[in-house]
Amino acid sequence: MARATSNPDNRLFIDLKALEHNLAVLRGLLPAGCRVAGVVKADAYGHGLLPVARRLKAAGAEALAVAVAAEGAALRHAGVAGPIWLLLGVRPPQARQAALLDLTPICADLEAFRALHAAGQALGRPVSCQLKVDTGMSRLGVPHGQALEFLEQLKALDGIRLTGLASHLATAGDPASGQAVEQAGRFAGLLAAARQAGWPLADSSLSGSGGVMVPPPASPGPPAFARLGIGLYGCLPDPACAGLADLRPVMSFSTRLLAVRPAPAGSLVSYGATWRAEQDTWLGVLPVGYSDGYPRALSNRANVLVSGHLAPVRGRVCMNLTMVDLGHLPALPVMGQEVMLLGRQAGGQISADQLGDWAGTISYEITCGLGAANRRRTLA
Ligand SMILES: *Cc1c(COP(=O)(O)O)cnc(C)c1O
Repeated sequence: MARATSNPDNRLFIDLKALEHNLAVLRGLLPAGCRVAGVVKADAYGHGLLPVARRLKAAGAEALAVAVAAEGAALRHAGVAGPIWLLLGVRPPQARQAALLDLTPICADLEAFRALHAAGQALGRPVSCQLKVDTGMSRLGVPHGQALEFLEQLKALDGIRLTGLASHLATAGDPASGQAVEQAGRFAGLLAAARQAGWPLADSSLSGSGGVMVPPPASPGPPAFARLGIGLYGCLPDPACAGLADLRPVMSFSTRLLAVRPAPAGSLVSYGATWRAEQDTWLGVLPVGYSDGYPRALSNRANVLVSGHLAPVRGRVCMNLTMVDLGHLPALPVMGQEVMLLGRQAGGQISADQLGDWAGTISYEITCGLGAANRRRTLA
C-alpha cells in the first residue's frame, strides 16, 4: 500500500532475523514431534503477510494459518506452497475458491463441509479441511460434547479429507488459569475418542503462543500442531509469560523531532489542555499521531526514547502529532534527532507489550495498528 499520508521520517522496521530466532526458540518449547503452523492473519499482525510467510516457510514452519480465504489466495498467488489453514473456516459461497487454491478451512458447520465436499467431487480430489471444536471459549466451534456425533455425519462426505481437530484456549499463558486446564482435558479426551473411532486427525491443534509457553497438562498424547502467532513476533501472549522465552521484538518504529520548543511554566499542552507545565521545560513535537497507528489512548501515558532516555508524552496524542517532554534530558535534543516509539535505542527499550499496557490494550493491537498505517521496511 502506498500510504501517501505517512511522514517520511516515520520508519517502521521488520526484522526477519528476529522472527526466525523466535520460531527456533518457540520450537524448542514444543513436545517432540509437534509441528508449527505460523499464524500470519491480519497482514502477519501488521508485520507484512508475504515476507513473514516466506521467511517462516523457509525457516521450516510446516503450515501457515490465516483468517480468511482472500489471505490464503494472496499467499498462493505469490507462490507460497504447503498447507494454509483458514482459521475462520469458509462460508459455502467460498468453498470452491478454497478448494481450487488447496486451502484448509477449519469449519464448524455442516453446510460448509457439504459445500467443500461438493467442490471436492467437482474437482475430482478430496478437499482438506479441519473441524473446529468449542472446548470452552464460546467463540467458534461445534460444542465438544457433540463433536463425535458431528464426525459421524462427516463420514458420508467422501469429497473432503478431514486432517485434524482444532480448538482454542481462552486463557492460555496464564499459569493461574484453571480454564486452560479444563479445555485441554476436554480436547485431549475428544481427540483420543475420535482416534479410537478411526479418525487419524494427524494435524490437530489446540495451543497458540500462550499454550506453548505455559503448556496445560494434556493427555493422552499431545496435539500434533501448535498455532504460533504473537510469540513469533517477539511479544507476550500474557504478561505472566515474561521471561519464559528469549523472544526478540520483530517490529520497531521511529521518527524524528519535527520541532523542539520551550514550554514555560503554566503552558497548557495539546487539545483539551489536559497537561500543564508545572515548571519551565522543553517539548519535542513528533510527526506521529493516531492516524499513524499510535493510539490516542497513549495521551499522557506513554514514553518515547530520545538519546536512550525515556521522555513522557504530554497532553493528547493528535491525528498527526504528539508532544513529548524533553526537560529532564541531560542535553537538549535538536530538531531532526531520532526518536524511538517502539524498539531499542542506546540501551533503552520500549516493547509492544509496554505500549499496549500504556494504551490499555495488548501488543497484538499495537502491531496491527502500526503495521496498517505505515510503510514497512523489511530487514532480511
Ligand atoms: C490468532 C490465533 C492464534 C495465534 O494466537 P497467538 O496468541 O497470537 O499465538 C491461534 N489460533 C487461533 C484460532 C487464532 O485465532
